[in-house]
Amino acid sequence: MLDCGSLSPLWAEAKAVSDDSAPTNENGPLTGLSRSALFEALCQNSPDAVVVVQRDGTIVFVNQRCVALLGYTSEELLGKAVEVLVPHHGRDHRQMRERFHETPRPRHMGTRPVLGARHKSGAIVPVDISLSPLPLEGFEGGPFTQAVVRDAEYHQHFDQDRVLQGVAMNAAANGIVITDTRGVIEWVNPAVTRMTGYLAEELVGQHTRILKSEVHQPAFYQDLWQTITAGETWYGEISNCRKDGTLYREEQHISPVRGEDGVITHFIAIKQDVTARKEAEEKLQETHEELTIRLREIEELHQKLREEAIRDPLTRLFNRRYLRETLAREMSRAKREEIDLAVLAIDIDHFKPLNDTMGHAAGDAVLVALAELLQSSIRESDIACRMGGDELLVVMPRMSLDMAQERAHEWRAEFIRRQQSLGNADRAPVCTLSIGVTNIRKDDPSIDALLERSDRALYQAKRQGRDRVVTEA
Ligand code: GH3
Ligand code: MG
Repeated sequence: MLDCGSLSPLWAEAKAVSDDSAPTNENGPLTGLSRSALFEALCQNSPDAVVVVQRDGTIVFVNQRCVALLGYTSEELLGKAVEVLVPHHGRDHRQMRERFHETPRPRHMGTRPVLGARHKSGAIVPVDISLSPLPLEGFEGGPFTQAVVRDAEYHQHFDQDRVLQGVAMNAAANGIVITDTRGVIEWVNPAVTRMTGYLAEELVGQHTRILKSEVHQPAFYQDLWQTITAGETWYGEISNCRKDGTLYREEQHISPVRGEDGVITHFIAIKQDVTARKEAEEKLQETHEELTIRLREIEELHQKLREEAIRDPLTRLFNRRYLRETLAREMSRAKREEIDLAVLAIDIDHFKPLNDTMGHAAGDAVLVALAELLQSSIRESDIACRMGGDELLVVMPRMSLDMAQERAHEWRAEFIRRQQSLGNADRAPVCTLSIGVTNIRKDDPSIDALLERSDRALYQAKRQGRDRVVTEA
């Protein structure tokens, strides 16, 4: 049996024999590294446990992974019978060992059913085991056998993860396309078939341009390729063509995949068909625009109706109803702010005979001419109304009585001038205006008091012979 130190004598022997020759590789010698150091590093860093036993089953070497996997220190294992690591203390194990020596060749002990190794705690660790004879000549206790013990659970997890990932990718609702760096499709999941109508076998081996539509400009694809070949993820919406030629729209994330050396090896595209969503959004947008137009029309109609409700259709001046609404407000404000408010009551003189001689249309024209005259010479804050028939009323906030009177005279004169300029002065009588002017008093109890005063002044103008302005303060 070999001596069992922390570093097996096997290694000490091997080191003595081979230290003189430096290891080489394809590119030349690995300078500064002895062959034995390389071999030891390889063995100790192996992801699998390595156990070397001599002919009688005594353990003569274990690597660090073996210690980690089975819970023993190397001192605890070296010199022990290998059966200490075998479940049920290896009842048949000795015979199996003998049989191995009869035909010593590398063999895998199989993974089904799962093999076990006995942990120091007594637990059975599932493992894969490969056996191979170690061709070490000239050492006592040989021939030697090397057992490579692999943690089956670790690899099972790894395999399970891969299986799960595969299932997930296949079941994903999003389309997944893997291409090489040229864009040639290597793998697609079933969702891609649902999206495009192409079977996986019809797509694999094809360039992604098989799906290309005429919707995008070349610059669009140039930008996409520039982004992903620069190692960045491209995100955007692409209109593509299904197998049956119909267009569909997909949102895509295309990411580069790098190998261990950092070089891009593949691209992965995750696609989502957004055709229905986009169509619904567009429909919604159209409906929204239609509704906005309708709403504007209704608003205009509403405005028009409101205008109709407050305006006289012939002269477009405000009507009596509107006047009563606004005059009350204007009166309160004038009192509150202590400002003037003038009211001018206007009536056309001898209008009835004009209608009778020239006809109703001629009368209408005179009414409209008067309305235009008033509208063109009042401020925005003034209110001109047709109270009925040929009687009009103008409310003028911030207008003194004197100025209102002056304004009344101007209108009277201008009204005559305009009729004369119509050129029918020789045929039709020229209408004149009678105007009663008043202004607000602090003690006016209501709008009626104010209106009665303006009416009274107008009446006085009529009585005094018409074609005049009468003021009642
Ligand atoms: P006065 O000098 O006293 O004001 O008498 P007048 O002839 O002007 O008659 P009055 O003001 O009493 O009556 C108003 C007349 O205005 C009655 C009607 O013939 C006429 N009239 C009322 N509404 C309209 C209208 O919409 N169009 C036309 N053309 N004439 C109207
Ligand atoms: Mg009149």
